[in-house]
Amino acid sequence: MRYPKSALALIVTFGITSVATAADTELNLYSARHYQTDEALYANFTKQTGIRINRIEAKEDELLERIRNEGAHSPADVFITVDAARLAKADELGLFAPFDSKVIEQRIPAHLRSKDWAAFSTRARLIVYNKAVLKAEDVKNYEDLANPKLKGQVCSRSGSHPYNLSLLASIIAHHGEQKAEEWAKGVVANFARSPKGGDTDQIKAVAAGECSVTIANSYYLARLMRSDKPEDKKVIDALGIVWPNQTGSGAHINISGGGMLKTAPHKEAAKKFLDYLAADEAQRYFADGNNEWPAVPNVKTDNPALAALGGFKADTLPIPTLARHVALAQKIYDRVGWK
Ligand code: FE
Repeated sequence: MRYPKSALALIVTFGITSVATAADTELNLYSARHYQTDEALYANFTKQTGIRINRIEAKEDELLERIRNEGAHSPADVFITVDAARLAKADELGLFAPFDSKVIEQRIPAHLRSKDWAAFSTRARLIVYNKAVLKAEDVKNYEDLANPKLKGQVCSRSGSHPYNLSLLASIIAHHGEQKAEEWAKGVVANFARSPKGGDTDQIKAVAAGECSVTIANSYYLARLMRSDKPEDKKVIDALGIVWPNQTGSGAHINISGGGMLKTAPHKEAAKKFLDYLAADEAQRYFADGNNEWPAVPNVKTDNPALAALGGFKADTLPIPTLARHVALAQKIYDRVGWK
């Protein structure tokens, strides 16, 4: 992913003001998103409202740091990022202002929002296995990855990464600390190698036979499925994909989402923008930009890879509840050596 420094500097020099006017004519958006479909997403908002969007794009954790450093004088109106753990962190730091939006309340399912932020798209954490080595029945649930039968066969990214923290947080919420720790310990005992790389690296390692199974976000798989590159097709051909825990709590899902900042200079514009993101058309752009599912139920998307992955039962654990267990999840990973 690219973060063009020169473009960023340009936006800062000419775009950002922190002085609010009676009727907001602009909005300062701090976003960890940077997809092609976002151009249309933002242009449509400006067309509908006349409000210009100044974008600051950077990596998730950098944006959060930046908002903290800017403090009360931050020009940021809206912060959009990925992962419940990051949104929860921003919330804990007291950065968000409570929402007061009938639109969000009516359209975004209750388990996908708190009073301070809302999800605008969802992704799932799937089990991915090498078809030549394992069968789907071997790895139907997250719990199966801790089965001693899979010794030396599991690849994983770091336990400190928000995606894995949120997954373990959901296990803590469902089964308690002790069971969660036993699970994490069992998975570590099955590692084929020390955690390294991102989800796509794990997927490729499974396809290459370096290990037999991993856990990865749905959009990384969708991206590979939509790729024209022969090497990506070969990777997908080697893989079996499982929707985990379908007879139990459902597949763990995470979100992209955001909220209005407490210090937002353009609060009216921020509210309008967040409502806009929950509208059908914006939902489509927002989800499609990263091969995710719209957070608003029944919004139809036209994504062949997601269609190929099919329907599934998603965990409906409230995302704010999950976020509360993230700190404990990190402690557990530390204790069991999931580096
Ligand atoms: Fe990602």
